[in-house]
Amino acid sequence: MFPQYRGKLEYVCLGCGGRFGIDELLYTCPTCGQVLLLEDLNRDALRGMGDGAYWRNVFDSRAATRETALRGIFRYYELLAPVLDPEDIVYLGEGHTPVVEGARALQQHLNARFMFKNDGQNPSASFKDRGMACAFSYLRYLVRSKGWDEVLGICASTGDTSAAAAMYGAYVGAPIKTAVLLPRGKVTPQQLSQPLGNGATVMEIPGVFDDCMKVVEYLAEHYRVALLNSKNSWRILGQESYACEVAQWFGWQVEPLCLFVPVGNAGNISAIMSGFLKLHELGVINGLPRLFGVQSSHADPVWRYYSADPASRVYQPVQVRASVAQAAMIGNPVSFPRVKALADRYEAVRPGAFNVVQVEEQAIMDATIQANRHGHIACTQGGECLAGLLRARELGLVGPDELAILDSTAHSLKFSGFQEMYFNDAFPAEFEIHADRTLANRPVEILSDEEKKVLSVQAFTRAAAESVAERLKLHGLH
Ligand SMILES: *Cc1c(COP(=O)(O)O)cnc(C)c1O
Ligand SMILES: [Zn+2]
Repeated sequence: MFPQYRGKLEYVCLGCGGRFGIDELLYTCPTCGQVLLLEDLNRDALRGMGDGAYWRNVFDSRAATRETALRGIFRYYELLAPVLDPEDIVYLGEGHTPVVEGARALQQHLNARFMFKNDGQNPSASFKDRGMACAFSYLRYLVRSKGWDEVLGICASTGDTSAAAAMYGAYVGAPIKTAVLLPRGKVTPQQLSQPLGNGATVMEIPGVFDDCMKVVEYLAEHYRVALLNSKNSWRILGQESYACEVAQWFGWQVEPLCLFVPVGNAGNISAIMSGFLKLHELGVINGLPRLFGVQSSHADPVWRYYSADPASRVYQPVQVRASVAQAAMIGNPVSFPRVKALADRYEAVRPGAFNVVQVEEQAIMDATIQANRHGHIACTQGGECLAGLLRARELGLVGPDELAILDSTAHSLKFSGFQEMYFNDAFPAEFEIHADRTLANRPVEILSDEEKKVLSVQAFTRAAAESVAERLKLHGLH
């Protein structure tokens, strides 16, 4: 049954506190230009409907529903965007990604307890689908309520935002079209193939993500376009579902957990804090988990801010350098003001619960390779989280018995080029990564094309099998 409850959502400016209705698509405050968050003014009514146990039961009972509108991220409908009608909701199988325990040998070897939440098992193979499902559902609602006959969705991307935007855009179809702006040569071939395959207009711009972001910001200020970056607060709402899922998976007992999240534009970590705060406010959870943002030393403005003394913290964008955590290679995160505001609220509930750690490129790549050799499907940002956990263990921030949940934000396949560079020890110098040659893994050539040509089918099969058996040192049966 689709819920009756409807919220009263407003944009709230994190700069001047201004409030604005949701019948316009706003990305920044019309008064002061700061970023926004969406707030439900009817939250008291939600609390009036039942206590924490009531809501836990509501969310748990939806786990079995076949109503697709409540099957993905909108299992937590009342907490996300409770203005949408079921017909608005786009469902492509996003959300409810598995939590997989770290391989035993790896946990032992690293002397750390962890599980990966494989957000790469979302439909476009990254967590961006969570936010995009919400942004497109809201766009559908706008199109329906305003009778628009043309909408252009547009985004800048380090790869995965454009993949998600193009996929949802193509699925929803007219009157929505999608265009994406990518930094030339700074997204992987797999990521580039996604928006191309989904038929979006793909444009490449020289520079890095931050350059592309400025261009789409200009476009959003001067033209009628729907900005699909996480500057769009509807994206943040959808990504809050990650926090809800973690809480639900652990039986709504999250205080003992340490969550590790890679930080790029800082939308995801903002959403995760906001999600846990909402659950806490509604009494669904009784405490907050500890949260660790992770940044590479090649793109670390948020770490720099938080590593300074609270009294002398100054936010400054950084010039990024080449990073294997390429999806998080951002020097001037759009959501930094959200992180600041939400981390303050988070720490007001649980002091010391928000941390940021910095890791080296070498550690990111080693962790990624190690994880996948143990049967995981960690992307380089997932490896960054594992490296972040090891760093936090080194710093004494996390004990050997504490359980860490590592956000593998995309599928390893999107970043296979970095694996190849590692196996060939062929990283360009700027990455500052050297391979552990004992980990290199390459295909073994069995017989040549020439041999295939001159041998009969039978003789070839036999020769190939004998060659394989020799390589593998197999023992004969007789
Ligand atoms: C976008 C992205 C990130 C960074 O998330 P932000 O919300 O920008 O901080 C990390 N990993 C992957 C795989 C991504 O696509
Ligand atoms: Zn403002």
